[in-house]
Amino acid sequence: MPSRKESVEETAAARDPLTTLVLLQDLDLLLREASDPKQAEEATRMGFKMGGLAELRAAREQLAATLDARTLRQYEAAAKRYAGRAIVPIKNRTCFGCSGVLPTGAHLETQRILTCQSCGRILYPL
Ligand SMILES: [Zn+2]
Repeated sequence: MPSRKESVEETAAARDPLTTLVLLQDLDLLLREASDPKQAEEATRMGFKMGGLAELRAAREQLAATLDARTLRQYEAAAKRYAGRAIVPIKNRTCFGCSGVLPTGAHLETQRILTCQSCGRILYPL
């Protein structure tokens, strides 16, 4: 009998990489807020338990492990550069992060992770 924990991990691995990246960014932003003493105080007042921080970190690591190394590196480099906002929408081939226009030869399939050639952010097609 597979444990409940194992089945959760299988679900995470089956997600498409872009969805995983969006979740990863959400977790990183939560961790960022929770690690800031001023924000943490506010969060505690709102009933968010700081004991959840270790759990949040563990979930983050588990999620990151489902991504391939190259995608994870691209995400982490962009997150560092843009204060945690590594993933931005793209519409009409225009990056919402820097207004850069993607060359017409670039692929727009959803299964492939697309990065902006001007700013390096990961693009989420709208
Ligand atoms: Zn850009």
